[in-house]
Parts: sequence; structure tokens; C-alpha cells
Amino acid sequence: MIMKYKAVIGLEMHCELKSDSKVFSRSRNGYSKLANSNVCPFDLGFPGAMPSLNKRSVKEAVMMSMVLNCKLPEYMLFDRKHYFYPDLPSGIQLTQNTLPVGVDGAIEIECEGKRKTVYIHDIHLEDDAAAMDHFEDTSVIDFNRSAAPLLELVTQPCLYSAEEAVAFLEHMRSAYKYCGTSEADTAKGQIRCDVNVSIMDEDATEFGTRVEIKNVNSFSNVYDAIKYEVRRQSELKAAGRYDEVVQETRRYDEVSGTTQRMRSKEDAVDYKYFPEPNIPRYRLTPEWVESIRREIPRLALERKDMYTGTYGLSDYDASILVREKEISDYFEKCINLGVDPKEACNWITVNIIAYMNKNELTIDEIFLRPEHLAFITENVKKGTISSKQAKDVFFKVLEEKKEPSAFINKENAQISDAGELEGIIDGILAANPGEVEKYRAGKDKLFEFFVGQVMRQTRGKANPVVTKDLLHKKLDQ
Ligand code: ADP
Ligand code: MG
Repeated sequence: MIMKYKAVIGLEMHCELKSDSKVFSRSRNGYSKLANSNVCPFDLGFPGAMPSLNKRSVKEAVMMSMVLNCKLPEYMLFDRKHYFYPDLPSGIQLTQNTLPVGVDGAIEIECEGKRKTVYIHDIHLEDDAAAMDHFEDTSVIDFNRSAAPLLELVTQPCLYSAEEAVAFLEHMRSAYKYCGTSEADTAKGQIRCDVNVSIMDEDATEFGTRVEIKNVNSFSNVYDAIKYEVRRQSELKAAGRYDEVVQETRRYDEVSGTTQRMRSKEDAVDYKYFPEPNIPRYRLTPEWVESIRREIPRLALERKDMYTGTYGLSDYDASILVREKEISDYFEKCINLGVDPKEACNWITVNIIAYMNKNELTIDEIFLRPEHLAFITENVKKGTISSKQAKDVFFKVLEEKKEPSAFINKENAQISDAGELEGIIDGILAANPGEVEKYRAGKDKLFEFFVGQVMRQTRGKANPVVTKDLLHKKLDQ
């Protein structure tokens, strides 16, 4: 029998920040197909190369610190962290050990419909190392990534399942994207995680032994690694062999779906930290901090609450709308232009997203703007076009890239004018006296015959509601 223990998880999430130049050098920060093309002496670790701090990276770090409700320091200070590895030729990583850009944070996330607060130990700005690739008998190094801005956040051990861990990571990926501080694309390796896992008895007061799984590169691997590791530790504990769970660093092997021991981790490595003397303390003035705070957009969860609360949308629809900030912004623009929220939601989640996917376009790339959608729905409301015609106009605008007014004209306009329809109906009744008599004698089914006649004469343009209304008035009197 496998006993059920409580899992405890703490995450270290690394995310590459967006910027034109690197955090400590002037070479370009960005992906390049050509290895070692975005490099300068600092990135290559040449002795004597001086760091220069990128202001945009500092701003982004401050913004994310505020998103996590962390305490900000008075100034930015960087420390040298010493270690040896071929991807770090200087032997020095610049990071924030003494005074991180944020400490003691907390953020609310949603996991399986429930809210949960995740506590943040700290968040700090540092530079990335080069990327290595290993072949059978040789290894190669690409320094394009060297000195690129990296933001690392460390949670408290306060996540209790693989589901919660992934929900937190997804929440943060969304926050990075909403804030525009990172592309946060896991497929491009922009997010990497260290996952710390331990188990304990349900009623225990002390944590169990922690195992660290390094450098997990996708959220599904984080999920699988946690599931596997909790099972491995639980089986050992249930078998009375918990002493075999030791504090160590493991790696996740995607192929076998298991974690494997890399090295033991009995004591903290001595990195010989000391403040980097070549970067002056960078003061965070209250004015600057406030101006950054004002730039933080409303994030996905807050928007979702508004969509379900104020607009009465379903949880499912609201989730689709907030998945990407651009879609959410588009939706809100429609509302501000007077489109009914449920209607706007319907157009976007059913038609627009399908069109985007089919044509591989983003919402900012399609021709149909919120103003167009507002114009179309406005005309449905006024009765100029039917909802079926609205759909035709909608697709014509998308396909032909023309204003909707080009398709809403006298030619195809719906006839809603009672006077005009009355004239047509009077003519039809006069031409079919026999049918009128039979209808009045009780043959109700003939009502549809009259509706059909009106539609035929108007080539489908008669407003059906007004038509039926008038027919009832004239026939049932
Ligand atoms: P290190 O420097 O070795 O990575 P830290 O003290 O910085 O160690 O902790 C790193 C991570 O380990 C944090 O995310 C923290 O939440 C997590 N952690 C600490 N103790 C435990 C535990 N018993 N079980 C699971 N995670 C833990
Ligand atoms: Mg660690």
C-alpha cells in the first residue's frame, strides 16, 4: 500500500527579459540563428571588460517586483557570484545576493477554480550564461545568450501539488507577457525552472528532505517531474527507507519520465559573493518607481473577475478572453464602443479566434477593428441588417479588407420600415383572398405561407419580426 503524504514544492523560476541590449553589455539581446554573432568582450569574459547596466532591465525588474508585491530596495546593487563552468568564462556571474530587487512578496493565483496566495522569497536580476550544446565527442558554446538579462524569482515552499506549481508558473508567464517585460516563451527557452520537492506526513510540523530538480524547461515537464518525484519519495518512505531520500540535485529525463541524481547537495556552495565594484549603486527614486507602477496593466486574473462579475460572462469565456492581453484589450475596446459584452464575447470567442487560427494571424493583424464590430452590431440593433446578414458583413470585412459600410447599403439592407412592409403585405393579402379566408376559418398553418410570400417579394430582406407582427395584426383582427 502506498501511503499518502503531503507534497511540498518550492520553485525557482528564471525568465529572460526583453531589451535591446544586454543587461551588462552593449551587444544586442535577442535570438540569432548565427552563433556568437551578438557578442562583445564583456560577454566573452575578457579580463578588464567593464559591465554597464541597462536601465530598461532595471525597470522591468522593478515592475515584476511590484507585480509580486515585493518590498523594493532603495537602490540596485549587484554582487559577484563565483563559480567555474565553461559557459561562464569570466568565472563571475553578476547577481543580487545582498539586496535583491524584491523580497517578501505574495501573489494570488487561481488553481482548479480555487484562489491561493503564493509567497515569494525574493526576486533578483542577474545575467545569463552562454548556451552549450553537447555532441558525441565535442561540445560547442554560443555566447549570444551570455550577459542577457535574467530575472529569477524564488517562491517559499508553499505549493502543495504539481497542479498548483504549474498554475503558478502559468500565472507568472501571463504576468510577464501582460507587462511586456518578457516574451516568456518556453519553446524558445526563455523560461527555465528549478523545482524543489519534499514530502511530509499530513500532520507533521517539520518539512522533509528536499530534492532539487534543476533546469526543467517546460511546464509539462515540471508537472511530470513533480508527480514522479513525489511518488519516488513516497514509495521510499512507505517502505521504511526514507533515509535514501537525500538532499541532492537531480535532473528530469523526458524520455524515461524519471528524475536522476546529478550530485549531492549537503552544504551551500561557497560562491564567495562580494559587491561588484564596477557598477555604482543605482538609486530607485520614488518618482521613477511610481511612474513604473502606473505602467503596470491590469493582469489576467483581475480582468477575468471583472468579466464574470460585471459583465456576467461564464468562467470559460472569460478565461479565453484573458489568455492573451491583445485579445482582452480588443474585447474591452468593443465594450467601450458600446457593444454588448456578451455579444462582443461571442463574436470574439466564436468567430474572430477561429478566423485568427485558420489564417495564423494575431488579433492585431486582422483587418476587422473593434470600431468595425461596433458598427456592425449597431446596425443589427437598428434593424438595418439581420443577425444573419451581420455575419456575412463580418466575414466580408475580414476577407475583402473594406469598411463594413461598403456592405451595408440599400441593396442588401433589411426592410424594417413598417409602412413599407404594410404596403407589401396588403398587396399579398389582396392577391390571395382564398388563403386569407381559410386561415381565418382556422387553418393556422397558412400563416407561414404569408410570411413566405413577403420574403419572396422582398428577396429575403423583410425584417422577420416586424413582418410577423404586421401579419398577425392584419389577419387576426
Ligand atoms: P538553494 O540556494 O540551494 O537553491 P534556497 O534556500 O534558496 O536553496 O531554496 C531554494 C528553493 O527551495 C526555494 O524555492 C524554497 O521554497 C525551496 N524549499 C526549501 N525547503 C523546501 C522543502 N522542504 N521542500 C520543498 N521545497 C523547499
Ligand atoms: Mg536553487
